Amino acid sequence: MLLAHKPPHNLDEGNITRVSGDFSELAMSFVFIVDHDRKPLAPVHPGRARFLLTAGHAAVLRRYPFTLILNEAQPDAQPTPLRVKLDPGSQTTGIAVVNDTTGQVVWAAEVTHRGEQVKAKLESRRAQRRGRRQRHTRYRQPRFQNRRRPEGWLPPSLCSRLANTLTWVARVCRWCPIGAISLELVKFDTQLMQNAAISGVAYQHGELQGYEVKQYLLAKWGHRCAYCGATNVPLQVEHIVPRARGGSNRVSNLTLACAPCNQAKGTQTAAEYGFPAIHAQAKQPLRDAAAVNTTRWAVYQRLHGMGLPVETGTGGRTKWNRTQRGLPKTHWLDAACVGASTPAVLQVQQVVPLCIRAMGRHSRQMCRTDAYGFPNKAPKATSVVGGFRTGDMVRATVPASSTKAGTYVGRIAIRASGSCTIRTAHGTIQGIHDRFCQPLHRGDGYSYTNGRSA
Ligand SMILES: [Zn+2]
Repeated sequence: MLLAHKPPHNLDEGNITRVSGDFSELAMSFVFIVDHDRKPLAPVHPGRARFLLTAGHAAVLRRYPFTLILNEAQPDAQPTPLRVKLDPGSQTTGIAVVNDTTGQVVWAAEVTHRGEQVKAKLESRRAQRRGRRQRHTRYRQPRFQNRRRPEGWLPPSLCSRLANTLTWVARVCRWCPIGAISLELVKFDTQLMQNAAISGVAYQHGELQGYEVKQYLLAKWGHRCAYCGATNVPLQVEHIVPRARGGSNRVSNLTLACAPCNQAKGTQTAAEYGFPAIHAQAKQPLRDAAAVNTTRWAVYQRLHGMGLPVETGTGGRTKWNRTQRGLPKTHWLDAACVGASTPAVLQVQQVVPLCIRAMGRHSRQMCRTDAYGFPNKAPKATSVVGGFRTGDMVRATVPASSTKAGTYVGRIAIRASGSCTIRTAHGTIQGIHDRFCQPLHRGDGYSYTNGRSA
């Protein structure tokens, strides 16, 4: 959707954000750019983007993420392939586009999922359907054995997370020359930890391995001393059967203890020290479900289908990469640190992540109910007020004569009266009339704000 040529003064706070904290100057991520034939080119510096717009060489293709389209085709352009990196989470998925050669993080985003909302909506539908049992209506034949789940079935809430992630990878590939994908697949690589033959001695005895083992033990033993249960104290990796008594270094012989307990236990085994249960628990590996989650596997399998090489990494590796580079914990920085391919130095100063929130589109309910769940209303009609639909990103310029005077950029929720609600990065403003609004970006199922997450 080409929103016609936009003059450069039309760039708004949604695109160029003043960031607070350490970065006091105006910062902006690189800008995606495609040529006349929609072939993705190397993302450009915001200054270059501003020049292209002012000189009339390019037009705005999309607001979110900010993407330009050149006036001319560039069939000979050979942009450096970039890598899109993903850190899938249950609430938020981090996405980063990284140039492996220069270490530049070109673009980053955090996608907030709506898994919880999907679940709540389906539960309310289920409750309504169950209510029919108590009603005196015509007899319906029971339907048995027609509820089998197909192979690879995922619950709708997980499906929605999967779809959001794949949608954004596909979109980034459309506007940016992507040559590879990195994905954080598992929290801990239990195979690598247990089986030296897979990875070789270097990994087994390396710094990274120790780091990953510690993370694994913290998760397995619940961040507490296995003997006295103390939390919020420094924990030491402890051998259940001590080394001196022939105990091995395998993770099945390791637990966590606070310094006093470790000292007191000395060269006794855990059973001798009075904790026979620890022995039994140590033999049990962390449940697979905790280490590998179904959505990540589904994401991995579907990404493979996109025809790009997919690199996988572990959560331990991500955290190690991130702390080695002295970067704070955010979803997008985690994404940038996924996998062995992470460049030694990551340049992140310019990057302002785009916060993307999955919103859903309209209501699909064919029969709405009253407050008691009694179906008595027609489906919600698609409504357009003043050319706007709920979900469009707009800029409202309210004149000084009004009590609501000011400029607001955000997602509009329309009202039939024309007096709409706008959700901006700084809060929700009610009662803004549609005549003050200009469209920035038509609703595409997501809402957008720019900025570093807290
Ligand atoms: Zn202790």
